[in-house]
Amino acid sequence: MTRTARLAAPLLLTALLAPRARAWDDHAIVTRESLASLPALGARVRAEPLEAFLAAEGARLEALLAGEEPWLREHVPAWPPLPAALAFRAAGPAGELRARFLAALRVHPAMPLPLFRQLAPGAPLPPGAAALPPSAVTLVRSGPDAATFVALADGEEVPALEVVATAADEPDHGLDLGIWEDNGTAWGARYGLGPQPFGNPALEFSSQAPMHMGFFHEPWLAYRAAPQLRRTFPEVRIHLFRALAAHAFATGHAYWGWRFTGFALHYLQDLAQPYHARAVPGVGLARVAWLQLLGAVGFPGPRAAAIALASNRHLAAESYTRRRLRDAIAASRAGDPLLAALRETSGDGTAPLADADVRAGVARAGHAAADPLDEAVLRTFPARHVADPAYTFDDTREPVDLPALARAGDPAAEQALVRLLSTRLRDAGRWSRALVRGLPPGR
Ligand SMILES: [Zn+2]
Repeated sequence: MTRTARLAAPLLLTALLAPRARAWDDHAIVTRESLASLPALGARVRAEPLEAFLAAEGARLEALLAGEEPWLREHVPAWPPLPAALAFRAAGPAGELRARFLAALRVHPAMPLPLFRQLAPGAPLPPGAAALPPSAVTLVRSGPDAATFVALADGEEVPALEVVATAADEPDHGLDLGIWEDNGTAWGARYGLGPQPFGNPALEFSSQAPMHMGFFHEPWLAYRAAPQLRRTFPEVRIHLFRALAAHAFATGHAYWGWRFTGFALHYLQDLAQPYHARAVPGVGLARVAWLQLLGAVGFPGPRAAAIALASNRHLAAESYTRRRLRDAIAASRAGDPLLAALRETSGDGTAPLADADVRAGVARAGHAAADPLDEAVLRTFPARHVADPAYTFDDTREPVDLPALARAGDPAAEQALVRLLSTRLRDAGRWSRALVRGLPPGR
């Protein structure tokens, strides 16, 4: 390993500490808009509690979940095998069925997973319905423009599109929090996943990042310097939830078929987002090493500044995309290029998503777009938000209208940003439809 690479490692890892690694930040919109044209999504399905699904399918789910292990050993060797004590067992106290299932998935045991749907932006509450408090759905602090959730009754009919769109946001509601052995949680201590690969294990939200980011295309020096970069695991979740979805469809549990499909789509869409597919966009390895060296000899300021800037640009790109999409939907502006990109199906193939596409297709394109996107973000928004290391971007605390700020700036810069984001969203939509095409027929 070279000296440059060795010096670069600690900063690379610290820089991945985005405070809220939430990718598109509104997977429900990405999912609803990209799938709406597919005939299969026109179906209506009956809401079914998780416990009912598990009680009906328990024995078969034992075999299905056990079948994940050989695939993981071959395709994701850095993912530690499931401890024998966590293997799913259908037999046992019925009141603990859900807990046994969530432990076998190695997700947060307190994830609420209620029957609910998330309203589209601007959609009114259905007559007679009451909004669910966010805490009934999410384990994560909600911002001022948080989505509206509405409870579903057991057996209530609901459009498949609403189920899959609602579920696509759920992995950001706490599913992957606290799962590593150094997170100080009871479940992290049992899950056998080792220490958190990167980020600060004491910061709750950073613990989900290794499941929601995929660093498959970094320079080889980066992996030599920081082998932990190989410990990113969105493929584990995509494969697992696709398998569960296929099983649910094949056995007549369409509600859970679409809900698990939504979970899988979340991680797939994350990888189309450049800040989730490249470790430190916009900063070359040599500069990372130089910043690290300054820190080592007593000048940590520039290093801290670089980390703050990377985080702010990441969050600015997501916030702009979310607000622009929400505004376009609420105002029925179908011509908005970001919204049109999600709905654009002319580039679709006929092949379903293959396992290998996750790295070689989705994440590779996300990675390749990272530097140009970072540059466009820097040029489009006021320096305060994307070039001031003393500022912390957090629009859940302080609403920031980035589309309005972009319109007040250089039009050419915003056009370049919109072109780049449109391409990314077109990709996210295209791959999302490919995943749905791979679901079993006869659902
Ligand atoms: Zn995510």
